[in-house]
Amino acid sequence: MTIYTGPVFEMAERQFDAVANHIAIPSDERSRLLYPKRAIAVSVPIHRDDGTTEVFQGYRVQHHLSLGPTKGGTRFAQNVHMGEVAALAVWMSWKCALVGLPYGGAKGGIAVDPHTLSRRELEALSRRYMQEMIPFVGLHTDVMAPDMGTNEQIMAWFMDTYSMYQGRTVTGIVTGKPVASGGTEGRREATGRGVAHIIARALAQLKINPSGATSVIQGFGNVGSVSAAALVERGVKLRGVSDHTAAYYDPMGLNLEALLKHVAAHGALRGFSNQSVIDPDELLEMPCDILVPAALECVITDQNVNRLKCRILAEGANGPTTPEADVVLQQQRDDIFVLPDILCNAGGVIVSYFEWVQDLQQLFWDENEVFGRLERVLDRAFDNVMKRAKSDNISHRTAALAIGIDRVRGAKQKRGLFP
Ligand code: NAD
Repeated sequence: MTIYTGPVFEMAERQFDAVANHIAIPSDERSRLLYPKRAIAVSVPIHRDDGTTEVFQGYRVQHHLSLGPTKGGTRFAQNVHMGEVAALAVWMSWKCALVGLPYGGAKGGIAVDPHTLSRRELEALSRRYMQEMIPFVGLHTDVMAPDMGTNEQIMAWFMDTYSMYQGRTVTGIVTGKPVASGGTEGRREATGRGVAHIIARALAQLKINPSGATSVIQGFGNVGSVSAAALVERGVKLRGVSDHTAAYYDPMGLNLEALLKHVAAHGALRGFSNQSVIDPDELLEMPCDILVPAALECVITDQNVNRLKCRILAEGANGPTTPEADVVLQQQRDDIFVLPDILCNAGGVIVSYFEWVQDLQQLFWDENEVFGRLERVLDRAFDNVMKRAKSDNISHRTAALAIGIDRVRGAKQKRGLFP
């Protein structure tokens, strides 16, 4: 019996089992590696603007503490639940270990649609959530960051709330803060720029010239919009894009600047154009060189994987591909070069790590230093994944997970089991 239920945790569990079988982890070691160290559930009450009181459910899962503090985002989304948060924490662990960061994985969230709250309500919810988390987080215990539905402003409220209780400013308690509040240059763009950098490595390996290549991107938030911009900067044509309100596809290319302006003015893509509107599910199946799911989990399934018409599947989102679809990708779709989530979107946590290091030292770097270091860490991880996939004759996903899981396992073995 476990509290970690639901399709997303099952997905993490199945991926883990496949890798554990591949690297022959004995069965008595497996639960210790997979199950989270700690899981916290809190009720978060706020006053609504109409004078009523409403209670939201909040979660935080800390996966393991074997390499250092835990690190991970906070998600505000309607369907957040313990199993999903736990799966995301587990993936964060393998991701941090893959790219060599001294962290275990964590994740948190609140089951809420943030679009339904006023700014005051959102601030109240953010502050009360952080207040409820104070006994469980800390500079060297667990460090939060943004994820779906949260942003720089919410991180600033988290940091301010924590600092008020400590009686001093503790900038390092969260990452992804505004630069003016102790954040780092480059964090907002880090995940999307990292996605584009890893895609550039794949294009080079496939001998595809970026100028002339085409992309389709699902999700136009932090990861999706910055990935789109960083790809356009490299000469890649943006053919398709979607968010929770609309989807557009134009084989001749969409105007990124106009899309960004529309979202800045209206908050979402709806109403951008009447001509290029497309069914959101169909968008994923449209011809392109690079498909970037950058929104939700489980969008590449056994139902649509055979209809994908991309050369590169670059997983900007966490867990966008179901295990069933992954089997098809491995066995029948070797025409698709998969960039698995824990490699492809690792730029976010890498620059979050840089932010934490800068906050601890109170010594801040410029953008060039941040992006230069980011690219070096990503290049090393990309090379390691390609090498492992080749030497073991396994998929990129299994290779990336195997490297991450091996590192965590090695740390646990060396430290031993207390007492
Ligand atoms: P965000 O809230 O900034 O953006 C999410 C986007 O997805 C929005 O444009 C939203 O409209 C869109 N969306 C929601 N439902 C959709 C649907 N049904 N169809 C199409 N689009 C839909 O979130 P984000 O930070 O960009 O995160 C996106 C994904 O990337 C998540 O899986 C997150 O875990 C992952 N991720 C984020 C970071 C980061 O640094 N922000 C780092 C690593 C991974």
